[in-house]
Amino acid sequence: MENRFVHPSLLTEWQKAQALDAADSLAGFRQQFHTGSGIYLDGNSLGLLSRPVAAAVQRVLKEWQELAIEAWLDAPQPWFFLAESIGNKAAPLVGARPFELVACGSTTANLHSLVSTLFPAGRRVIVSDALNFSSDIYVLRDHLSLRGLDPQRDLRLVSSSDAYRIDEAAIMAALDEEVALLVLSTVQYRSGQLFDIEAITRRAHEVGARVIWDASHSAGAVPHEFHRWGVDGAVFCGYKYLNGGPGSTGFLYIHEKHAALKPALSGWFGNRKDTQFQLNIDFEMAAGAGRFQMSTPHVLSLAPLDASLDLFEAANPKELRRKSLAMTELLMALGDRYLAPHGLKIVTPRAPHQRGGHVAFASPEAYALAQALRHHGIVPDFRPHDILRLAPTAFYNTYCELVETVSCLLKIFEEDDLTRFQKPTDIP
Ligand SMILES: *Cc1c(COP(=O)(O)O)cnc(C)c1O
Repeated sequence: MENRFVHPSLLTEWQKAQALDAADSLAGFRQQFHTGSGIYLDGNSLGLLSRPVAAAVQRVLKEWQELAIEAWLDAPQPWFFLAESIGNKAAPLVGARPFELVACGSTTANLHSLVSTLFPAGRRVIVSDALNFSSDIYVLRDHLSLRGLDPQRDLRLVSSSDAYRIDEAAIMAALDEEVALLVLSTVQYRSGQLFDIEAITRRAHEVGARVIWDASHSAGAVPHEFHRWGVDGAVFCGYKYLNGGPGSTGFLYIHEKHAALKPALSGWFGNRKDTQFQLNIDFEMAAGAGRFQMSTPHVLSLAPLDASLDLFEAANPKELRRKSLAMTELLMALGDRYLAPHGLKIVTPRAPHQRGGHVAFASPEAYALAQALRHHGIVPDFRPHDILRLAPTAFYNTYCELVETVSCLLKIFEEDDLTRFQKPTDIP
């Protein structure tokens, strides 16, 4: 075990954390990951590499080397079916039926695909929120423009009263009979606020709108029940909590009630498998979410997901969520007690059912603090304009690491000159 700094005022907390680590039923997974010598609290931006994932990439390289084109059908897991088989494997994480989920494209591209397909005729408004991820908002504006609608008028962005959270009642109030689509992120990437997906979806359906969720910040950290909740469509990425590696393939979910909907943006890999290679110029839609694939599966970016999802199968998603909540709970308790006096304010909701996988601290010094932590071997991240995000991951973080991180922040406040870590003003 690495010898890390514990602040004298946190010794008792550290002993308690040691006991929690010793009793942690998921502790064994940590050794499967390349955790390095520091403390990694950025698994909500890029999950760490695990040993099975590294081996899976090597295996695919070997298949390419030895089987070349034959691997499409003759590899032990034929490449031709990888997008569907990995979709099946990830389905339990979001409560999808196996054929409702496919691993293809990327989050933003998949959102373009779903918005173009699910936009119902006869309606004109899209509802989202002003704190949603930039890329998602770009998508929504583009689709309104492409339909001859006016993004200024027809995109309703629910605003935040405190710049960190969105009031669910305000979302409900923005829904009326003009609304075509409601497009939200399950978890706010800054504050970590988790929406009541089921209740919001139900309300949108009551006014006849369809709902698309971006679960990039929850998939793998917060279990969902998309099928049961009647969610129309969803997208998420594979490289955050799913640990699928940089730029790994994204996921697209579409509810089986839309089985008859043809993708508005089709490609040859969405054709029925049995007739795809007839290369007929008339598209024959595949059944299930697989019909949304546009292109040849990104085999080198799918292999990591396949191996990573084995780890999720070996752990219990409910256990992962339980530990994640316990860790964010501990971090918030330590934050209140030791960091609030230094001006770090927790903006993540306290209620477990409103909290995703990370804790967000607001501070005018957030940028400098993130840099200072990095300087001490701890990887957090910073999100403009004033958020320090710490994401403890159930698979590979320990309770002790959280106490050590808070210790380090205390030490920074006591000893470091934060002006050393100011933000450069002219980022190219
Ligand atoms: C990470 C993230 C994305 C990423 O989009 P890419 O197309 O994969 O680059 C999109 N939306 C949200 C909400 C995210 O958190």
